[in-house]
Amino acid sequence: MTQPASPEARRAELAGALARLEERLTAACRAAGRERSAVTLVAVSKTWPAADVAALAGSGPHAPRHFGEARDQEAAAKVRELADAGWTDLVWHFVGRLQRNKAGSVARYASVVHSVDRPALAHALGRGAVRAGRTVDALVQVSLDGDPARGGAVAADVPALADAVASTDGLRLAGAMAVVPLGASPSAALDRLAAVAARLRERHPGAEWLSAGMSTDLEEAVAIGATHVRVGSALFGGRAPLRG
Ligand SMILES: *Cc1c(COP(=O)(O)O)cnc(C)c1O
Repeated sequence: MTQPASPEARRAELAGALARLEERLTAACRAAGRERSAVTLVAVSKTWPAADVAALAGSGPHAPRHFGEARDQEAAAKVRELADAGWTDLVWHFVGRLQRNKAGSVARYASVVHSVDRPALAHALGRGAVRAGRTVDALVQVSLDGDPARGGAVAADVPALADAVASTDGLRLAGAMAVVPLGASPSAALDRLAAVAARLRERHPGAEWLSAGMSTDLEEAVAIGATHVRVGSALFGGRAPLRG
């Protein structure tokens, strides 16, 4: 996608995208009989510069406060740049695949990690959070296609993983997350996620968050009870394909 010529044009473009997204979210909540305030918008700013985050965060009454990133190095630099510019009230979510050796860094700036998919990662993240003197909200990422190579724990492994997260110092077990597999029917995949999340809540009543829904399937996600939608391209525009 071509970049607008000026910061003002980019600001207007982002404000327009946010207004359109708010309409979609409001309509989806209305259709599902839910309050708009029951769904947190996480604006996924990966690959986009700190200036875009500042523009969106400063764009008026519906401006998002929650931003999502998928790579530690990029996120750490962006968080620092924004904090230096006075944006200290933003809530950072880490939504991408996370290597254990990056967990300590992520724990320093992320309030929420959506992609906890194995006990060893939970333990590393917990250690990092304790070291940083904070508590990180951790979501168990569920694999909806049964292929853990693409991230996420298979449904059968979720209870033990959730127990591991819940018993790790520095972490709060906040709920479940999933990405709808490429080519899958969103509503069928999200129904599977809702069932896994319901079983998780039976065991851990505090684990109420459900992170689901991206630019193309947020309506289906709100319908099955998503509390957090992670929206990138519908706000910022198309991304160059991520590598690695
Ligand atoms: C990039 C990303 C998103 C946002 O996806 P869009 O299709 O651009 O809305 C959401 N969740 C995760 C895990 C991502 O990596």
